[in-house]
Amino acid sequence: MGKKRILLIGTGGTIASEMGDNGLEPELTSRQLLRYVPDISEICEVECIQLFSLDSTNIRPEHWLRIAKAIQDCYGQYDGFVVSHGTDTMAYTAAGLSYLIQNSLKPIVFTGAQKPIGYETTDSKQNLRDAFRAAASDLSGVMLVFNGKIIIGTRARKTHSKSFEAFSSINYPIVGMVQDGRIIPYIRPKSEVPIRFYEALDPKVALLKLVPGVDCGIAEYLLERNSALIIESFGVGGLPVYETGSFYETVKRGLDAGKTVVLTTQVENEGSDLSVYHVGNSIKQNLPVLEAYDMTTEAVIAKLMWILGQTNERAKVAELFYTPIACDILYVF
Ligand code: ASP
Repeated sequence: MGKKRILLIGTGGTIASEMGDNGLEPELTSRQLLRYVPDISEICEVECIQLFSLDSTNIRPEHWLRIAKAIQDCYGQYDGFVVSHGTDTMAYTAAGLSYLIQNSLKPIVFTGAQKPIGYETTDSKQNLRDAFRAAASDLSGVMLVFNGKIIIGTRARKTHSKSFEAFSSINYPIVGMVQDGRIIPYIRPKSEVPIRFYEALDPKVALLKLVPGVDCGIAEYLLERNSALIIESFGVGGLPVYETGSFYETVKRGLDAGKTVVLTTQVENEGSDLSVYHVGNSIKQNLPVLEAYDMTTEAVIAKLMWILGQTNERAKVAELFYTPIACDILYVF
């Protein structure tokens, strides 16, 4: 059997950065990146495209659509895809792509680095090699490969801002490792249904992280300007009731105006359970809010953008929200 054909899609990030007058800026194309790791030709055949060169701070949902379209346009010509991307918003883009391209049997692998590929000490080369190994393997779907870990696209989060061990898998095991150039798969989630591409997103999704004493006017403001509001509340979840104002009333007004409201937790692990405390249960029992359970906030944001790009009919939104896609949600009480 011949070598697998992999498409490398460049988008920028530290991996492709060089020092400019005001700090690191993405300069190198995907073809230039590849020159630093000529041994990848032993793993697979590679073709390169460069979609844009951005620090991922500047990547928006419209860029997710461009990456998805680039993959869709040449899906039949390649066995797998590597997307090199800045680490700062990689988890969001990987989640976005998990909803835009569903049930892919071919691997779509995100990677990047904490240090530029031209630096003497860098994680870029290893991450690229590992990503190509994964893209040329029989793993499937959207994933992130970083520092030897293979993480499902809907479960990734950047949990270290500087060290090479930058990403964690939240509320879900890593699906495998790349060790000494070999893929060690722990689990192999595979879809039985045909691949499906989507081409629309509604980017008007806002996130509010509660702080003690938060003014509910902020929620009001965000609800007026967006189709959906995600509230990262405390612990297993709930909304504060202060003498100065009630989140209950604010959220109710937003819901009555046809907006979607999701409650989640700002605690990194184990997810929400609104049923436990009065502050949560009184909301869940009386208002048609949605609950994130074990989904990551990155996945909730991307999932809402995908859902609201198709419908804003409340029952349909709820049905799609609670439908597991790409291993994004395990439990719904
Ligand atoms: N600021 C960079 C980016 O996200 C960080 C990185 O790639 O590691 O594009």
